[in-house]
Amino acid sequence: MIAVTKPFLPPQEEYEAYIKGIWQRNWLTNNGPLVNELELELKEYLDLKHLLYVNNGTIALQLAFKALDLRGEVITTPFSYVATVSSLVWEGLTPVFVDINPKSLNIDPGKIEAAITPQTSAILATHVYGNPCEVDKIQKIADKHGLKVIYDAAHCFGTRYKGKSIFAYGDISTTSFHATKLFHTIEGGALFTQNPEVLKRIALMRNFGHTGTNTFDELGINGKNSEFHAAMGLVNLRHIEAILNSRKEQWLLYRDLLHNLDYQPLRLTDPQGYNFSYYPMVLPDEASLEKYMEILNVNYIFPRRYFYPSLNLLPYLGAQSMPVSEDISTRVLCLPMYHDLSPETQQMIARFLLRVQNN
Ligand SMILES: *Cc1c(COP(=O)(O)O)cnc(C)c1O
Repeated sequence: MIAVTKPFLPPQEEYEAYIKGIWQRNWLTNNGPLVNELELELKEYLDLKHLLYVNNGTIALQLAFKALDLRGEVITTPFSYVATVSSLVWEGLTPVFVDINPKSLNIDPGKIEAAITPQTSAILATHVYGNPCEVDKIQKIADKHGLKVIYDAAHCFGTRYKGKSIFAYGDISTTSFHATKLFHTIEGGALFTQNPEVLKRIALMRNFGHTGTNTFDELGINGKNSEFHAAMGLVNLRHIEAILNSRKEQWLLYRDLLHNLDYQPLRLTDPQGYNFSYYPMVLPDEASLEKYMEILNVNYIFPRRYFYPSLNLLPYLGAQSMPVSEDISTRVLCLPMYHDLSPETQQMIARFLLRVQNN
């Protein structure tokens, strides 16, 4: 079976070497030495001053909203994973959707200002498929209206924009290190900010607000991650260049193999800095998507309708019409991509797709 993705597992011995140390120290969680080491190594790898490791990418978003004191309405994208929007609702905030650009599939900055009201406190945008939003335009709008900017950068490990890690943008960027992401720690996530005050707040908030053993100066939650998760991250970080390189080769091979297929590829904001994490195809219509899914599925190949449905259609939200996102979400398909996907398998996938089109 070929699934849309498969978690990377490093050589078992490399992980076990870290486990020995955990047994010797008997320190399993609560900001342990491996968590600290992972934070240091990630900062170095990403060339960023600040980073806080947490237990998942959803908690990272919720901590970001709390650390910036968001209230009322938050402008966001309908084309993302459900966690972007469900985390807002969970924190008592009201998502106000702004439709996407049909080529980049990111929030359309040209439509943001019309959605701002006196209740708006922030813009929460996703760099969809690891492809950067128009961050300069978004920042300009935010500055003009006194809004905070948060980026859900869950797909972005390794993406650079204008020579810097994409995690450096916005008041806060968050990411996920979930097992299905390009770099993972089994479960995990991180927050990035350039603001030392905000950083300090998040550090307290992820640990119940503890300022001492018996003092709690901030409202907090349990956002900590364990030594076992950090160990997986430390090992996987040794393999990240190989993972990123194989993604790029696979991405370029799909593009070559499918150049006669009728679909719209993703428009890359900064091709030099892209991490090649996903291969989305925007097909002409939902009927062709279903035909392609069918031939692949009978051959035990499982691409994914990602993202579907458009998040403005979530049953717990009031109706807001988002024509571009609703349209794209019915006809976008992500092809399989993982570290050891072979060129032969990609050629087979391409042959099936072209056969269906040409029938
Ligand atoms: C994976 C993902 C999340 C959630 O991250 P978790 O670590 O699974 O909580 C949030 N937003 C986007 C866009 C994602 O892809």
